[in-house]
Amino acid sequence: MSFSYPILPGGHLLAIEGLEAPHIAALLDLAESYALLNRQGKTQRDLLKGRTLINLFFEDSTRTRTSFEIAGKRLGADIVNMSVSTSSVNKGETLLDTASTLNAMNTDILVVRHAQSGAPALLAQKVQAAVINAGDGTHEHPTQALLDALTIRRHKPDLRGLIVAICGDITHSRVARSNIHCLNAMGAEVRLVAPPTLLPADVTRLGVQVFHDMTKGLAGADVVMMLRLQKERMSGGQVPSAREFFRFFGLDREKLAYAKPDAIVMHPGPMNRGVEIDSSIADDPVRSVIGEQVEMGVALRMAVLDVLARGLRRNV
Ligand code: ASP
Repeated sequence: MSFSYPILPGGHLLAIEGLEAPHIAALLDLAESYALLNRQGKTQRDLLKGRTLINLFFEDSTRTRTSFEIAGKRLGADIVNMSVSTSSVNKGETLLDTASTLNAMNTDILVVRHAQSGAPALLAQKVQAAVINAGDGTHEHPTQALLDALTIRRHKPDLRGLIVAICGDITHSRVARSNIHCLNAMGAEVRLVAPPTLLPADVTRLGVQVFHDMTKGLAGADVVMMLRLQKERMSGGQVPSAREFFRFFGLDREKLAYAKPDAIVMHPGPMNRGVEIDSSIADDPVRSVIGEQVEMGVALRMAVLDVLARGLRRNV
């Protein structure tokens, strides 16, 4: 595929905010072609041969880190997984010192997850490598929103006018922020469904409708996206108890019945079963597309690596 304009302006993927519908659609089209190749087992290519990709994760991850590793390997890159617990970061090295070390090693692509919002953007100013934000604090998780859009599009081909209800812990969710920007750019109607304590202060600026009642927020929805209660980012008092949260905001069959009969159910993982989602819904082969989200994660990340590789400065 060739493109007549930069799909990822600046040569990094730091956020969805700022990307426009044609950029997003081009990435999704390319990812769709990788999804087909992956299913056919025809994935080994040499697009990234001689390139080094470093996974630099300062926060835990299962799906994101592994899928970047698989995506990079399928495109022929050399992959290094930097485990922060065994690196010099624990000896007090600053983020920028780590950056200059990685720079000196001629790293081509840096995939960064960090607890501080803005850390990947800061690194992008200091390194030669293309930087991909794999989740920064409560700010953004751009590849998650793109893989979510790809998954939705496979079930509901036109995103324009689709009603997407994003439910649960919005305040702490970088997934929610990236999805709001992505879905708004693609013309979907975004609803946030949460107790007032789990909604960010700037919610009115996000171009969404807000609901505090699942039955109203889910009424007529095409897509129901559940989020994890992020206890590790809570200072306490925001949620009474897991059991009570489930009663009012957990997705079960009764609440799902308010959405459209063919509504799909999503979750970025990791799931707290019985807290934000009941197992019978999470594992429902007809309504749940949670497994497909993981599959699309690899294809989408291959597309992002492909696009960024076209703009790399270092010759190999
Ligand atoms: N895995 C997602 C993230 O890193 C969602 C979550 O942790 O709840 O943001």
